Amino acid sequence: MSFRNKGLPASSWYTATAHPSPRLPALRGAQKAQVCVIGAGYTGLGAALELASKGVSVIVLEAATVGSGASGRNGGQVHPGQRRDQAWIEQILGPEDAKGLWQMAQDARANLADLIKRYGIDCDFKPGLIHARHRPGGEATDLRDIDHMAKAYGYDQISLISRDHLAEDLGTDVYYGGTCDHGGGHLHPLNLALGMARAARAAGAQIFEHSRALGWAKTAKGMRVKTAMGEVVCDQLILTGDGYIDGLSPAIDAQVMPINNFVLATAPLGDLADQIIQSDMAVADSRFVVNYFRKSADGRLLFGGGENYSPWYPANLTAFVRRHMLKIYPNLIHHPITHAWGGALGITMTRVPFVRQITPGVVAAAGYSGQGVMLAPYFGKILARASLGEMSGLDLLSRLPTPPFPGGKLLRWPALVAGLSWYALRDRL
Ligand SMILES: Cc1cc2nc3c(=O)[nH]c(=O)nc-3n(C[C@H](O)[C@H](O)[C@H](O)COP(=O)(O)OP(=O)(O)OC[C@H]3O[C@@H](n4cnc5c(N)ncnc54)[C@H](O)[C@@H]3O)c2cc1C
Repeated sequence: MSFRNKGLPASSWYTATAHPSPRLPALRGAQKAQVCVIGAGYTGLGAALELASKGVSVIVLEAATVGSGASGRNGGQVHPGQRRDQAWIEQILGPEDAKGLWQMAQDARANLADLIKRYGIDCDFKPGLIHARHRPGGEATDLRDIDHMAKAYGYDQISLISRDHLAEDLGTDVYYGGTCDHGGGHLHPLNLALGMARAARAAGAQIFEHSRALGWAKTAKGMRVKTAMGEVVCDQLILTGDGYIDGLSPAIDAQVMPINNFVLATAPLGDLADQIIQSDMAVADSRFVVNYFRKSADGRLLFGGGENYSPWYPANLTAFVRRHMLKIYPNLIHHPITHAWGGALGITMTRVPFVRQITPGVVAAAGYSGQGVMLAPYFGKILARASLGEMSGLDLLSRLPTPPFPGGKLLRWPALVAGLSWYALRDRL
């Protein structure tokens, strides 16, 4: 498991194209703050920015470096909405909560746009997200969903794409049509995280890198968080960490577990750039193990595909992801791959995020199940507000069910591997 917290992967195209940012000191000695945030990914940085902007003293402890978790490694795809579709949420929580959660997701979308604009975060945002069907059929369901979203939520950003149109746009005929959500998009994920950290620090947040929180406890003076070389005494604690958090809360360990997902970057596409994704949107397909791809600002194909359910990465990452890419773009067989990397993401049994008050004074968000680029910065804001006593957003999110994985922390792996591998196998049938 040692790969998980070693900082940004040197083999990542994001690392290679990150804007320069200062290395931050490790925590030494005892410090005090009103709020301590664990983890400097989108959630922790979103929380820190919100708190510091309100004049609250906040310390962020980061085990490795800013954005070195999933926030600096992901596919960069901006998915509107909650992780599960509205029909599922309506069934589970009823129409009123479903409307509240939809509004929250819209607020998260506006928050992301505002972050980029207000703090001048240069992260190559481009609009549009295509969902491509990998099996025949499904058009009637898509039309029903489009109609439902327009009528029940007034959301009219989704349109149907025919098979021919999709083939022309993507430069591959493997898909059977799909939809385009004009409210989605894609961006450079690490530059978003670094920009958020810059904004949070400018507002007064202190961020310590290489400062893993080893544990926390309630004391008569408030909360005490220990690192190898120091400690933070605080009134409130915010736990983030998604697929990288481990051992800080039995509730998170039981309900969130990490899996690995992988991405590659090709060399610039040259003449092929005009044929591959002409619309320059992000694309995600309908497989259980989703293939997701888009073009980078410098004209490469960034392709995410394949995951594994072990603490270890595959030995040859490039080959592991490339075989998925070649099924979509066989014409790239001789095209060089320049970068390949992976990251861990937290999933829950129901694939909705785990957002909870763990105990009075301690709130947490993790388990975005692969969809945190848009939600996580805003959920950080919701955690910040909860630690200042404004609980409505947290209460609503807490109603999303995230039952524990069967088998507990030690025995959950075999059950998960069997379950997920079966679904992944179905993609190939
Ligand atoms: C390969 C991959 C592709 C993805 N693609 C997409 C996508 O295209 N679109 C999308 O919406 N989502 C995607 N995701 C998911 C998305 O990246 C995450 O949901 C999101 O980044 C979660 O942000 P976070 O801040 O909660 O966690 P992270 O970004 O993982 O940050 C957690 C941080 O906490 C730190 N930490 C953990 N434990 C401690 C501790 N004890 N002390 C101090 N620090 C600690 C870690 O070092 C890490 O920096 C992808 C994820 C991966 C891995």
